[in-house]
Amino acid sequence: MKVKFWGVRGSIAAPINGSAIRKKIENILSLATPYDIQSPETIQKFLETLSFSSCQTYGGNTTCIEIRDSANHLIIIDAGTGLRELGNSILGEGFLKGEGRASWLFTHSHWDHINGIPFFVPFYIPGNEFDIYTSVNDLENRLIYQHSDRHFPVSFDALSSTKRFHHFEEETEITLFEKIQISSKSLRHPGGSYSYKIREDDKIVVFASDAEFNIDEMENIDKYIHYFQGADILIFDTQYTFEESLNKIDWGHSSASIATDIALKAGAKKLIMFHHDPSYNDEKLDAVYLRALNYKNMMDKANSLEIIMAHEGLELEI
Ligand SMILES: [Zn+2]
Ligand SMILES: [Zn+2]
Repeated sequence: MKVKFWGVRGSIAAPINGSAIRKKIENILSLATPYDIQSPETIQKFLETLSFSSCQTYGGNTTCIEIRDSANHLIIIDAGTGLRELGNSILGEGFLKGEGRASWLFTHSHWDHINGIPFFVPFYIPGNEFDIYTSVNDLENRLIYQHSDRHFPVSFDALSSTKRFHHFEEETEITLFEKIQISSKSLRHPGGSYSYKIREDDKIVVFASDAEFNIDEMENIDKYIHYFQGADILIFDTQYTFEESLNKIDWGHSSASIATDIALKAGAKKLIMFHHDPSYNDEKLDAVYLRALNYKNMMDKANSLEIIMAHEGLELEI
């Protein structure tokens, strides 16, 4: 399976602004020597020596993930603002001609997970077909409500593609394309949210955002550990630092240290830090990531768990 991240920000889109870009340029220029800028090759080499935040950005779009199985079937998770660019990227795969097919999983209907839908071009093209799977009750009506003329000029029914909604209960399993198994589990989050586990053969991707796991719950974590067990990729809500999470009980999100504890207990192979706080700039996210790496080494240095910070454009293959 392949996983690509189109939106990694939590709560609200947080695009980088001009002064932040200027600061990055100032910083880069202050570090470069005449040798570093001699040729395109030396420039590339120099850029590779810099931290992620120095010459990149984690991205400001909200939750949207692309998953491809081994037969290249498209499964989308959620529809935050990252969906707009995902939609444009797949137009050449038949979606412009009305011949596109995709499956979809929805975790919940908070704004940051659905407000890319009005700008998802493939939804407007007749002939495209979408099978939308969810454990959320009444998702179709929630999306229709988002498109009432008070909120958006085009109604949901006027989006001309075919959209089929399929509800499935938590902890039951559905099968797509004869070999992809998907199950869901409810998460602690205001208004409710669902995690999805996607399995193809012996490969497992678990998406678990938005989710509040706090220190009080760690004693009752076994049912979740069982669910996350052996995940090759565990995409997890790490919106807060540990200190913030203590002050934001019931806000519905977790910290990197709790996520690391859970990933270690569950024997996950890769933990992807996800749903970044909109108030965190790239430099702060670099620091949060470094702390998470140190925490993991402090807890279990020998464990081969790999921790990765989600950023727009990140692609993983298992
Ligand atoms: Zn969210
Ligand atoms: Zn939410």
